[in-house]
Amino acid sequence: MKNDQLPAGRRTLLRLALALGAATAVRMVAADPAGTPARPGGEPPDPVAGPPARAQTGGGAYRLRPMTGHGAPRFLPAPPPVRTRPFEELPELGRDAMVLSFDDGPDPRYTPDVLATLRRYGVRAMFFVCGEMATDHRDLLRVMADDGHVVGNHSWSHPLIPELSRSAIRDELGRTSDVIEQTLGAPPLWYRAPYGAWNRNSFEIGASMGMEPMAWTVDSLDWTRPGTDTIVRRVERGAAPGVVILSHDAGGNRSQSVAALRRYLPALLGNGYRPTVPHRG
Ligand SMILES: [Zn+2]
Repeated sequence: MKNDQLPAGRRTLLRLALALGAATAVRMVAADPAGTPARPGGEPPDPVAGPPARAQTGGGAYRLRPMTGHGAPRFLPAPPPVRTRPFEELPELGRDAMVLSFDDGPDPRYTPDVLATLRRYGVRAMFFVCGEMATDHRDLLRVMADDGHVVGNHSWSHPLIPELSRSAIRDELGRTSDVIEQTLGAPPLWYRAPYGAWNRNSFEIGASMGMEPMAWTVDSLDWTRPGTDTIVRRVERGAAPGVVILSHDAGGNRSQSVAALRRYLPALLGNGYRPTVPHRG
């Protein structure tokens, strides 16, 4: 079963690890200057909202990385620093901003509905995809990018990262980044460890692949299928500036997650929240 929950013992260990790492505050690297404004009326997406966030490079630091023997040199973004904990919230995005994120997909049974609802309200989100799903549904990856969503790396097969060797972690993350790059023309800039189980190797390897670690603030626990009402209530109660919401568009029956989004998204917009995505550059 895929979900982002850990047994209680693991959760306790992770909380301890996060508490120990709390002294090293992680700051957002950049806010989203072209954030999608709230549209309580449910207008269609703004065609001038800008290119997909993943393509926004915003004058950031670049360095030349010669690729001898593989054609012309390419300019690539400088790799991010090695973090000691993931981003859990993004307060720098702005006073009314928050982030919706969807894990484990894409799944053709649910992802198109999630995308349609986001498009209806002109809202961008983050999708942390598994390579084994993404490789078979590259069309959905393209729709995500075309609609301005951020496509992040959620490993290939959804393993517990701390139980893997360094080479296995590199394989899980690298193969997934390869599928995203082959499909969208650029590698992902964010990754999320399955079950929220991070370790030092994952921070080092993720950074070496140019990715920042993104966790979440509010877990909708949608994967337990608690009922659409409960998912809606959890998201609405958890809403606050800078909050990152976790839910799922794959990994099991996600009809409740799909139905809940149709209800909580207009409610969030009606309450003045501006769901958006971070960009890096
Ligand atoms: Zn997951």
